[in-house]
Amino acid sequence: MSNSLLDALTAAELHCPVITAGHPEYDHYRRVWNGIADRQPRAIVRPQEVEDVQKAVRAAAASGALLAVRGGGHSLPGLSTCNDGLVLDLSLIHSVVIDNAALTVDIGGGALLGDLDRATVPKGYIVPAGVISHTGVAGLTLGGGMGWASRKYGLTIDSLLGAEIVLASGDVTWTSPTWNPELFWAIRGGGGNFGVVTRFRFQLHPFSGIVAGQWIYRMEQARKVLSALRDRAREQPRDFAVSFTASRSGLNVTAVWSGDAGRADAILSPFGTLADGASGGLESLSYLTLQSRNDVAFAWSRRYYAKGGFWSDIGDQAIEHIIDAIAHAPAPDCEIYAIQLGGAIGDVPDEATAYTGRDAGYYWLSEPIWDDTADDDRCMEWGRTTGRLLSDASIIGNYVNEQGDTGSNIVRDAYGPEKYQRLARLKARLDPNNLFRLNQNIEPQE
Ligand SMILES: Cc1cc2nc3c(=O)[nH]c(=O)nc-3n(C[C@H](O)[C@H](O)[C@H](O)COP(=O)(O)OP(=O)(O)OC[C@H]3O[C@@H](n4cnc5c(N)ncnc54)[C@H](O)[C@@H]3O)c2cc1C
Repeated sequence: MSNSLLDALTAAELHCPVITAGHPEYDHYRRVWNGIADRQPRAIVRPQEVEDVQKAVRAAAASGALLAVRGGGHSLPGLSTCNDGLVLDLSLIHSVVIDNAALTVDIGGGALLGDLDRATVPKGYIVPAGVISHTGVAGLTLGGGMGWASRKYGLTIDSLLGAEIVLASGDVTWTSPTWNPELFWAIRGGGGNFGVVTRFRFQLHPFSGIVAGQWIYRMEQARKVLSALRDRAREQPRDFAVSFTASRSGLNVTAVWSGDAGRADAILSPFGTLADGASGGLESLSYLTLQSRNDVAFAWSRRYYAKGGFWSDIGDQAIEHIIDAIAHAPAPDCEIYAIQLGGAIGDVPDEATAYTGRDAGYYWLSEPIWDDTADDDRCMEWGRTTGRLLSDASIIGNYVNEQGDTGSNIVRDAYGPEKYQRLARLKARLDPNNLFRLNQNIEPQE
């Protein structure tokens, strides 16, 4: 199979770099964000044009090779790389083109959130997306996309107007609310199951500065802080969002305000007095700074695992589990994170997109981070056990993008039975042989 992949790539006459073992940059290009996913692909293709994406997809299909599609390389389970197969690395397709009149932006399927923000923010606009600037636009968008501006402007998919996509057949098509609408429904939450997106078109939203408050409380204060945070956050308008991260080094609360700057102090400061003695304070900053200031904390090549889910609110039981889990964390960077959702996310009807879970009040993550391979088992076990304890089965849906594990149950639970069947039917039509299977996989089924 492997040689036939190389033969098929040769026959395809690609106009872009094809990197194989022995190439001086092979080790560089086979790397992905999660250090656990240390894999040896047979070939890494780095297209610059859609035509080469089509050729590479056809070569993978013809040779029966495993195909991994890579945008920003942030997949938690390492789904954008593989052993012995083909990695389609889209990072050279990263152009950003703004249409000032239509207030839209077209962005390549290999661009990072930082590419998007650096082009749009100086013009006074954003597309709501995630909170770390080296995350890929593609993987994030296809799963849903949530971050600081989601309560104000919705998920990233709620700003999606259309996409250019290379299907399993190798054909390229456009999808939008009026053109291939079923495919457009599916790619808004259904992940990379339906093809390789080479270009996204998003609606831009006006955005000026932001005020952020960040405070660190002691973990012994967590019970008091988290219940007060919950009560206070509930009353806030959509221009507000809050997140917290609990770890052995403390409870970090971040609250942001993107509304009228004159109200920032009154809205945000109370989050610095949820208990006595917090260190931290308020600062005005640009959206670009906000979006990149935690990049280093999630550096490439460390070892990561995550298990996540939705809460309708921060429950008393969850607070007890958080306190207990952090007391038993096996490494300093074993964290529990949650970000407030709600607001504009709930304006879109659940059935309008494959993404499921719009009624959630928070997204939470149990995320151990470590460096030593000897800690793999205990850190992952901590992540899984904590995740099980924090799960709240009352909300239908889950976020496929932030799961360290894969498997049919995870995917079925994420979409619920009806949406899963709808996705599986479209998958059977567009990708009957499941060429795009290195993802939170929807199995083709008529
Ligand atoms: C540090 C970090 C921070 C994060 N923060 C957030 C956040 O704030 N908000 C949020 O919503 N999510 C967040 N995530 C989760 C993130 O959305 C997913 O990890 C997402 O898959 C990353 O996309 P990527 O392109 O970087 O990943 P990749 O690893 O490149 O791809 C992941 C999967 O997406 C698919 N894919 C990638 N590119 C394409 C393409 N062009 N066409 C078709 N399919 C494609 C493939 O199935 C691939 O397996 C974060 C993840 C990390 C690691």
